[in-house]
Amino acid sequence: MRDPKKLTSDQLALGDMSPGDFRDAAHRVADLAADYLERLPAYDVLPKIAPGATRAKLPGAPPAAPEPLDAILADYRSIVEPYITHWQHPMFMAYFPSVASGPGILGEWLSATLNSNVMLWRNAPSSTELEEVVVSWLRQMLGLPQTFDGMFTDTASISSLLSIVAARHAVPGLAARDEGLSGRDGVGRLRMYASTEAHSSIEKAAIVAGIGRSGLRRIPADGEYRMIASALQEAIVEDRAAGWTPFCVVATLGTTSSTSVDPCEAIAAVCRRERLWLHVDAAYAGAAAIVPEMRPLLAGWEHADSIVVNPHKWMFTPFDASLLLFRTPETFRDAFSIVPEYLRTPEAGGVHNFNEYGIQLGRRFRALKMWMQIRWFGVEGVAARLRDHVRLAQLFRNWVDADPDWELLAPVPFSTICFRYKNGVDLDAVNAAILERVNAGGQVFLSHTKLSGTYALRVALGNPRQTDEHVARCWAFLKAAAAK
Ligand code: PLP
Repeated sequence: MRDPKKLTSDQLALGDMSPGDFRDAAHRVADLAADYLERLPAYDVLPKIAPGATRAKLPGAPPAAPEPLDAILADYRSIVEPYITHWQHPMFMAYFPSVASGPGILGEWLSATLNSNVMLWRNAPSSTELEEVVVSWLRQMLGLPQTFDGMFTDTASISSLLSIVAARHAVPGLAARDEGLSGRDGVGRLRMYASTEAHSSIEKAAIVAGIGRSGLRRIPADGEYRMIASALQEAIVEDRAAGWTPFCVVATLGTTSSTSVDPCEAIAAVCRRERLWLHVDAAYAGAAAIVPEMRPLLAGWEHADSIVVNPHKWMFTPFDASLLLFRTPETFRDAFSIVPEYLRTPEAGGVHNFNEYGIQLGRRFRALKMWMQIRWFGVEGVAARLRDHVRLAQLFRNWVDADPDWELLAPVPFSTICFRYKNGVDLDAVNAAILERVNAGGQVFLSHTKLSGTYALRVALGNPRQTDEHVARCWAFLKAAAAK
């Protein structure tokens, strides 16, 4: 594999790859990236690969001596690229979409080149201010009031964790930041609330924030998987009487299984009455607010104390990019800020030092890709694409609805459809077998969930490369699998 004649002089000296070599290599990598996007439809979305197969092709120990770029790129092409599950593929309809647009990829590439670590204004002035501007752009795109400020994090899991720690910090007299929660006299147990349909990240946040899994009370959902606001109210009253200290409610707008929308207006009213922090998890469906006629679906979220929307889900932004919006930035800052001597800068006070609002010191420069992407598509361009995903979802929904052998299992407010084949004795097993058969073909990738204990197939759309033809092919694969 190693051919010393193919090494460059940069590799044999000290120092990094020279700008000249970088330019040559970057052109080749740009070709590889464009070739990949061109080749994408020809790949099966799911590779034929057994566990351990990639590891077996790779040396167990790192190379002691430099290797030529040719060899590295050739291995990338033959060992890595063909054997990923292709998240970029239009036939990837599992989970939720996580797709990287062309301009987003370019922004990610430039951000890696600059390697700007957005922890303090001093060491990232234009990156910090670009983040402020792009957060404000996104807030406006979502139709949320100016009272929200925010920042980017890596994932919704972290955005929700930060919000729950901020909510905990806002509990009067608790002083958990300084005193912790364990072994203290006179401190009631904290209780937070989310529906039975809320994402597992909320439960993880409860674990990490010291609330514990039993401190998270699950509120029942109605027949359409939406939190029952009156049950929330009753639970809070019951908990207070039993000595708990309620402090936070998580409303999910676009749940992971069925994309149901909790009644945010009613939940916000409960939070107002009971003086509880309202965190809105709109990781997937929040993007729908960019489409003006869909905005009413999210009504009430403007009352939240914190909101998470993931551009890396339904806004074609390269992973990772989670938008965390908050109403009182000072609560986050008070909860997290620690400024040791080595982080003191003369501008402190007049500028945003983003590290003070969360756990991480070092932060990726995520605003650049978002900025490039929003400019390249324009807000109307983003909205048009989301609208088209909703159209495609309705198309698919109508095929299921019109077919006597299939049934819908939940409403379809956004771009995700939950359904099942309805002929057979053990329908859970029948549908699991259909999923297995469809995915085994490799040409479409679907996932499943359970709704009220019933096995449900899921088709999740949201890739700007998706067209009518892709959803029609998916439906044909499903019908063929069921016919067998
Ligand atoms: N919240 C909801 C509603 C989700 O559907 C998901 C993931 O699908 C998450 C949170 C977690 O997202 P992340 O992977 O960004 O942590």
